[in-house]
Amino acid sequence: MASSARPLALRAACSLRAPRCLRSTAAARQEQPGEPARPPPPPDPERGSAHGGTGPRGTRRVQPPPPAVDFGDPREAFRSKSSAELVRALVVLRLCALEPLVARSRQLMNLSRKLLGQQRFEKLMKMTFYGQFVAGEDQEAIKPLIQRNRAFGVGSVLDYSVEEDLTPEEAEPRSPYLSPGAAQREKQYLAHREFGDRRDRVISARTYFYADETKCDQHMDTFLRCIEASGGSSEDSFSAIKLTALGRPQFLLQFSEVLMKWRKFFHQMAAEQGKAGLAVMETKLEVKKLQETLANLGIATKAESQHWFTGEDLGVSGTVDLLDWNSLIDSRTKLSKLLLIPNMKTGQLEPLLSHFTEEEDLQMKRMLQRMDVLATRALELGVRLMVDAEQTYFQPAISRLTLEMQRKFNMEKAVVFNTFQCYLKEAYDNVTMDVELSRREGWHFGAKLVRGAYMEQEQARAAQVGYEDPLNPTYEKTNEMYQRCLDYVLEEIKYSQKIKVMVASHNEDTVTFTIRRMAELGIHPSEKKVYFGQLLGMCDQITFPLGQAGYPVYKYVPYGPVNEVLPYLSRRALENRGFMKRAKRERDLLWSEFKRRLITGSLFCNPSH
Ligand SMILES: Cc1cc2nc3c(=O)[nH]c(=O)nc-3n(C[C@H](O)[C@H](O)[C@H](O)COP(=O)(O)OP(=O)(O)OC[C@H]3O[C@@H](n4cnc5c(N)ncnc54)[C@H](O)[C@@H]3O)c2cc1C
Repeated sequence: MASSARPLALRAACSLRAPRCLRSTAAARQEQPGEPARPPPPPDPERGSAHGGTGPRGTRRVQPPPPAVDFGDPREAFRSKSSAELVRALVVLRLCALEPLVARSRQLMNLSRKLLGQQRFEKLMKMTFYGQFVAGEDQEAIKPLIQRNRAFGVGSVLDYSVEEDLTPEEAEPRSPYLSPGAAQREKQYLAHREFGDRRDRVISARTYFYADETKCDQHMDTFLRCIEASGGSSEDSFSAIKLTALGRPQFLLQFSEVLMKWRKFFHQMAAEQGKAGLAVMETKLEVKKLQETLANLGIATKAESQHWFTGEDLGVSGTVDLLDWNSLIDSRTKLSKLLLIPNMKTGQLEPLLSHFTEEEDLQMKRMLQRMDVLATRALELGVRLMVDAEQTYFQPAISRLTLEMQRKFNMEKAVVFNTFQCYLKEAYDNVTMDVELSRREGWHFGAKLVRGAYMEQEQARAAQVGYEDPLNPTYEKTNEMYQRCLDYVLEEIKYSQKIKVMVASHNEDTVTFTIRRMAELGIHPSEKKVYFGQLLGMCDQITFPLGQAGYPVYKYVPYGPVNEVLPYLSRRALENRGFMKRAKRERDLLWSEFKRRLITGSLFCNPSH
């Protein structure tokens, strides 16, 4: 393969980066035999904790312990709601539990629009589903809700939720399709016609379809407006973006495939050295043996590969870990032979990177430029950018591009947040690698932890197309993974000022676990290192007590014109159907609060705090 085939995306991604730092002393220390794996907590004069800390002038600053949080107290949970809003929530959540109605929600919405006419239909929607799950039509309209939530200690992650209302027949041809060389490609990272409508079986996430570059520019403008609205709404807000809106998904597929093949190759090399099955950050390849293998495979002579492992931050200890390995495809891809890796099934050397046409190269560059524009604006306005996680066949590329933005924009504070989906078997590896990389390179790590929104589609695709299911096999395994990732990040937070995490979940046990671990580790909510996140219109009994107790908590706040949000809205109704037990608890609490207000004659009182 010609060296010119090095994807411009990689080059462009590298050019976005801040200069790479040498490994941190902490990381270097980790490599010394006999040293503890994790560095001891650094002395931090600014830090206060539940156990007390030293203030800026050496004064002892003792934080009061955070108040207990009660998720079963309806009065606390709905203090911010008027009685009319309680009734609306009761009605909407009840309707969401009616299976036949929800299954036909889209058709019913269309029918109501025809029968009532546009104006009356919009009014009905605002009184019901739209009013419950969407904040308003535009930046101005959402302000009162954002301010009210803020008064109750709840921040906002603005999420412009317009989705094109395409039929499956219209959506399918807008998806990425088979490209040249498909025969050698990994099935998981090929587009498949039967999964062309990426909304299928996805309920809580909106989906973008590629039309052309102008449409991507329009999406970027929309995200820019959203960032600007976030900047104007409060001091510490977030704005959510989806990378599939910003470029050609085909590129994300191809780039994901490259990254995963490269990672698999590392693990194959590790197996050759008898190191299969170790935790990812404990897997270290011995450089000498690696060079021999590369030479035997005909990938690079020892003299050639010598240069790969003598860079500023490679091979100091005579070993190479996956982070070092990954950095090779940033810095060494000009060595054309490196782009060939063996196909373990056929024994043939195959190109790691696919050829891109000039037009495709250009599309990649534009995608990276759009991301750069958004992150620059977010930084200027003091808004944090939350990059949502999407399907597994895009996610390695999304995560990698997000990481490149973090390298550039997170030097002073966490501006760009990545998302980790814990239903993935590889979630723990992904989280630990990024934390370690941030430590080595000295940037701030910011992440949102979720369980994952694309489960049904992912499972169906893996089964039908015929590749290993990338998801944990059971809900319990996903819970274990979530807890493992969260526990790891919390422990890291204990030692670092440069790590922030958002626990984005409606699961009360997860939230309770987080609060308990924070207390055990001495992480006080006022340090604002651990955030919580729920979607607007759902689980207020979790969000508001957290906010009132002083924990940084956020609602994902969708907004957009009624008609354009409807496709998203009809699928949100489905989401509630899936969480019957939780929705029942929410309805019970809403009903208790309504009865209390009725009995005490406070039905018409304004929300207070
Ligand atoms: C603020 C916020 C932001 C979000 N952002 C994203 C995002 O960027 N990307 C994204 O993908 N999702 C996102 N989600 C959605 C999230 O991933 C979950 O789909 C949703 O929150 C439900 O999970 P839970 O922890 O709230 O509840 P739970 O009911 O405890 O968990 C349900 C989840 O568990 C997993 N699960 C259920 N059954 C099984 C099974 N049999 N095997 C394996 N796993 C199983 C699935 O992920 C399912 O969605 C976000 C959610 C919130 C609240």
